[in-house]
Amino acid sequence: MHGQMMQMPLLISSLLTHAERNHGDREIVSRRVEGDLHRYDYRGLGRRARQMANALKAHGIRHGDRVATLAWNGYRHMELYYAVSGSGAVLHTINPRLHAEQVLWMLEHSGARVLFFDLTFMPLIEQIAARATRIEAFVAMCDRANLPRVSLSKPLVSHDGLIAAHDDDFEWPPLDENTAATLCYTSGTTGNPKGVLYSHRSTVLHSLAAAQRDAFNCSAMDAILPVVPMFHVNAWGLPYVACMVGAKLVFPGPWLDGASLHELIETEGVTLSAGVPTVWQGLLAQVEASGAGFKTMRRTIIGGAACPPPMIAAFQDRHDVTVLHAWGMTELSPLGTVCSPKPGVTVDSAEDQLALQAKQGRAPFGVEMKIVGADGADLPHDGRSAGELLVRGPWVAASYFRRADEGMLRDGWFPTGDIATIDADGYMQITDRSKDLIKSGGEWISSIDLENIAAAHPAVAMAACIAVPHPKWDERPVLVIQRKPEAQVAPEELLALYHGRIARWSIPDQVFFVDAVPVGATGKVLKAELRARFSDPVAAVN
Ligand code: AMP
Repeated sequence: MHGQMMQMPLLISSLLTHAERNHGDREIVSRRVEGDLHRYDYRGLGRRARQMANALKAHGIRHGDRVATLAWNGYRHMELYYAVSGSGAVLHTINPRLHAEQVLWMLEHSGARVLFFDLTFMPLIEQIAARATRIEAFVAMCDRANLPRVSLSKPLVSHDGLIAAHDDDFEWPPLDENTAATLCYTSGTTGNPKGVLYSHRSTVLHSLAAAQRDAFNCSAMDAILPVVPMFHVNAWGLPYVACMVGAKLVFPGPWLDGASLHELIETEGVTLSAGVPTVWQGLLAQVEASGAGFKTMRRTIIGGAACPPPMIAAFQDRHDVTVLHAWGMTELSPLGTVCSPKPGVTVDSAEDQLALQAKQGRAPFGVEMKIVGADGADLPHDGRSAGELLVRGPWVAASYFRRADEGMLRDGWFPTGDIATIDADGYMQITDRSKDLIKSGGEWISSIDLENIAAAHPAVAMAACIAVPHPKWDERPVLVIQRKPEAQVAPEELLALYHGRIARWSIPDQVFFVDAVPVGATGKVLKAELRARFSDPVAAVN
């Protein structure tokens, strides 16, 4: 027997319609590439998104066509989030920090017909335009006056010009909720990137889960600053969540340095922010140096890489900002877990509290997790047994774009490539990325554990732990350290931190100092690069 309820498809356009009707005058504030601060509201967003939808239609963009962006976080990007997906086309967001050849490869692979870009990326566009064979038109995300006077092989128009040429009389089509909405490629360090094709349904369900109190905890009372880029897994879904709850949105544009972020947080009354640890390092350094605090910001979501406990402590103890440590992946839209409290999980000391928050957290409804050993058998959720983390749920990818025949699932579960423990309360902790694991004398060593210990030293800006080959033990851990500006610390002092805290055999053998730990396009440490550089420790020192 069927239930007798309405069949309303879960559509991205309905998020915008909801925001326009119920939170029409809530603000969206953006620092623009032009250098100024732009402000309008959900009503303005709705109007311009519909105008843009008409412009796309006039260009002949049809259901399922891909429209690409190379853009920072800002209102024009937000307009495309809704105009493109809402009208049934697919928004392909590209990470502009990737190499030009990779950008070109993804454009060819996705077959995008139009490419929107922020003016910052004009040189990149000039570099790739002639070879981007599938692109029919380039759109600079600016007004007509700022349109660059360059000649490309294809037409170049302005975003605002397109909008001005069309009225806002547009009805969002009643799509099937399983229609593709957005496309984002994983930032794989080897091989070609893999595309994850999200649907309207997966996006709306993900937004419902992400907005929850025990997840990102979002409300109409919030002013949200997504520092995590809109080109990286849809800024963790925050552009959708904000419409869903009617929160104010604050976009930083290209200015991600500590001083710019802090100014924006203070002047716009930001209550919640989200980003990777590397970005928060800049912000913390800024507030600690200037002595300024946070008047309104009370929560920050940190994920994308393990959040070092000293960062959690700094935000919470010194600035009264609660850290929500989260784990996710491009393949998971991205939300997998958030470390939020639970009754019955008691912590006796500040140290225990920090140890709990260093965990990546619990699964919201909609994400199922398990860990398996090398033989594929389930491992106990005892907080000690570490195995590969497998997940499934309605916002987890079932296959990669244009690689559906490759079968990425294992018995219906997605193998994440992360190694983790899960405790009896359901808190998951990543111990390693499988390719970053260190196996010494047959025993696994968690690189994240070792990094967290070194990161606690006040002179350390960033710590990375990698395996180097060893004739007797196969592999041994070594530390690569980036010191804070002007700070000094000797290798022995860092190594002393480990004594008495971890098994002797898992203490790193050596410490290497570098000017800057290499970080990839999405803020993750490039361990492969470090391994290549330090795998012959003798050569590395000389
Ligand atoms: P991406 O698809 O680029 O978002 O990368 C996903 C990967 O980032 C995961 O598989 C993890 O290895 C890593 N990651 C994300 N969040 C965390 C976290 N909170 N702690 C540790 N690793 C994380």
